[in-house]
Amino acid sequence: MRQNYDPPVVCVCQFCQKSFTFPACWVRRGGGKFCSYDCKYAADRIEISVVCEMCQTSFMTIPAYQRKGPVRFCSRACYDQSRALSLEARFWQKVLKTEKCWPWQGGYHKSGYGLILSKGKGTPKLLAHRVAWEIGCGPIPEGFHVLHHCDNPPCVNYEECLFLGTTADNNADMIAKGRAYWQKQRALLRAS
Ligand SMILES: [Zn+2]
Ligand SMILES: [Zn+2]
Ligand SMILES: [Zn+2]
Repeated sequence: MRQNYDPPVVCVCQFCQKSFTFPACWVRRGGGKFCSYDCKYAADRIEISVVCEMCQTSFMTIPAYQRKGPVRFCSRACYDQSRALSLEARFWQKVLKTEKCWPWQGGYHKSGYGLILSKGKGTPKLLAHRVAWEIGCGPIPEGFHVLHHCDNPPCVNYEECLFLGTTADNNADMIAKGRAYWQKQRALLRAS
């Protein structure tokens, strides 16, 4: 008898609800969801309703099409239209305007700043608060940073929260807000 014998476990098929047994080691690796290949195939083809990100109409798709990533558009025309959207149009799709701050709703950098693709999928990412400044206030002069009055990195409110500063202003601002690296280190030392 083998030492590491793994007894089969009872699984319930997610498609036909029938119970069946499956080797435990395969279940641990994510198997055992369907009793047969036919059930797996059929489950992959149950139609689900999705809303097109471009024209907002709902359309039907199947999980098999979603495997490589979500199906986001109802048609090739809508997909092409989304690619052709300007940086500014894509920017406004991801902004939530609240009373004070406008928190970014898209992707984030680990620093907390919002990120936006410069031209669409696969193109370099830009910092959302810098893009916000350029949309609302014009080009950022060479050597200047876009800083936050509100100390809320995802905020892109160029009307109230953002301001331009030099590198010196940026450092002074960070120190004033206690975010500078050496201050954190000192605080850690003091705490220990
Ligand atoms: Zn089944
Ligand atoms: Zn559409
Ligand atoms: Zn703000």
